[in-house]
Formats: sequence, C-alpha cells, structure tokens
Amino acid sequence: MFDHVSGDFEEQKRVMNLSLVVAVVLLGAKITAAAVTGSSAVYSDAAESVVHLLAVGFAVWALRLAHKPADETHHFGHDKVSYLSSGFEGAMISAAAVLIIYEAVRQCIFGVTLDNISFGVAITAAAAGVNLVLGLALIRVGKRRQSALIRANGLHVLTDVWSSVAVLVALGLIVLTGWKWWDPIAAMLASLNILRTGFKLIRESLGGLLDETDVEAEKNIRALLDRECAARGMSFHNFRHRHSGRVHWVEFHLVCDDALTVGQAHELATEVEASVAAMLSPDGRVISHLEPKSTAHHDERWETR
Ligand SMILES: [Zn+2]
Ligand SMILES: [Zn+2]
Repeated sequence: MFDHVSGDFEEQKRVMNLSLVVAVVLLGAKITAAAVTGSSAVYSDAAESVVHLLAVGFAVWALRLAHKPADETHHFGHDKVSYLSSGFEGAMISAAAVLIIYEAVRQCIFGVTLDNISFGVAITAAAAGVNLVLGLALIRVGKRRQSALIRANGLHVLTDVWSSVAVLVALGLIVLTGWKWWDPIAAMLASLNILRTGFKLIRESLGGLLDETDVEAEKNIRALLDRECAARGMSFHNFRHRHSGRVHWVEFHLVCDDALTVGQAHELATEVEASVAAMLSPDGRVISHLEPKSTAHHDERWETR
C-alpha cells in the first residue's frame, strides 16, 4: 500500500539527512562564535542550535517510522508520528526562545560586553545563507510530498534565518552607533518571532493528532457524495473523515432501497467508494456501511443530515 511512495521517501530522507548534517555543523560554528564574541544575540543563536539539533534528530527518526507500512500492531500505519514530530519541533524552539529571553534580560541587568564582532558577523552571515537554502528546499519537498514533518522542519530553519538576520542587524548597528544595547533588543525580537513559529507548529500538531476536521476536504467530499448518491437513488449519513499524516481515511453509511439484493447494493456502494477514493488519490482509504431504507438511522449527534 505504500509502494508508490518509496521514490519520494528517498527524497524526503535525503533532505532530512542534509538538515541533520547542517544542524551539527552550524552548532559547532555558533558555539565558537558565541564564545569568541560574548554577544547575547549570538549566544541565543547558539542556544537555539542545541535544541535545533534535538528537534531535527527527532524528526529524522520520526520520518523513518512514519513510512513503515501498517502491521499487526499498527493497523492504520505509523504516519501520525509526523504530527508528533512537528509538535516536538515547535516545543523545542519555544524552549529556545525562553532561553534567549532569559539571556537578554540577564544582559540588560549585568551589562553588555562584546569582543570580535566581525568574527560573529562572518559566522552568522554564513549560517543564515546555508539555512536559507536548506529551509526553502525543505518547504518545497514538504509541500510536494504533503509531509507535515518536513514542512515543520523547513519553517523552523527559516525562523533561524530571521534570527540570524536580527543578530547581523544588531551587530551592524553596534558597529555604526557604538550603542551596545542593540544586542539584547535584537535577541528579544528574534525570540518573539521564534515563539510565534513554535506556537504555530504546536497548534498544527495538536490539530493533526486530534483528527481536526479538514473543512475544505469535508466540503468537497460531501458535494461528491451528494452527487454520487443522488445518481444511484441512495443517501448517506454518519460521514466521518480524518488524516493520519498523508493518508486520508473516509467512512460513511449508505442507505439503499430495501428491494436491492446484497450483490446489487454492494456494487453501488463500491462505485461510490471508488469515486471518493479517486478524488483523494493516491492516499484515500474509503469504507462504507450499507443499510436498507426501512431501518436506516443516524448515530452521530453532531451530524445534522
Ligand atoms: Zn533551529
Ligand atoms: Zn447508519
């Protein structure tokens, strides 16, 4: 059932492995820069790199698990772990943001001391360039492969680009104006931006884990079911659908004429199922329950039709 994704899985693995390698290299570079400059903006960049590595490591593990096919103990596959991964990524960068705020406040209280600003500028600019290319690549692959996990990692990496830009602007302003307080100010602004992305990722992850309704898909599937059922003299109710990562699961009850044989009714149901699956292709899984008009009833309280 997952055969058709093996090719794009290779691409996803490649781009996430690249993300991991970049995370390791940048961690080393930023720790060095923070130690040499003593800048809280650069320090916060380095602190972010530590949680960054944790988050990417978790995502690489989750990506492998997500692509394991369904088995005896996980009948719906493993791809829901993608949502856990993007939530973890959001929680990690939010933690980094808190750390950055703490450091900036500490600097405000105890004063700003900076050395070797040009070295900090060089490292930070290089990191921003690498992250910009990586982040855009991750988002492109994530969108094309409908992977919440890879998209989340891409958003995270782009957040880091903005943090680096804030550091660069701060260090530049310090050189131009000689006023050192730009450093904690930039750190604060960067951390607010990180918090914004962090909460967004956590929010999306919760939506996925709790099977939040995809309103757009719901409208389309309902419209299709209305048409397909009307064409066959049937009606439907108890329609439910949810995403488990990339697979879209759909179920509904079909009400048919009492006079149809089981064979005839089943044939009609199979046609309706097939057209819904075709609309959600290639990752739609559709199942229906058949009932005769005389005993049909709704079970779902929230469903009005
Ligand atoms: Zn990061
Ligand atoms: Zn029913």
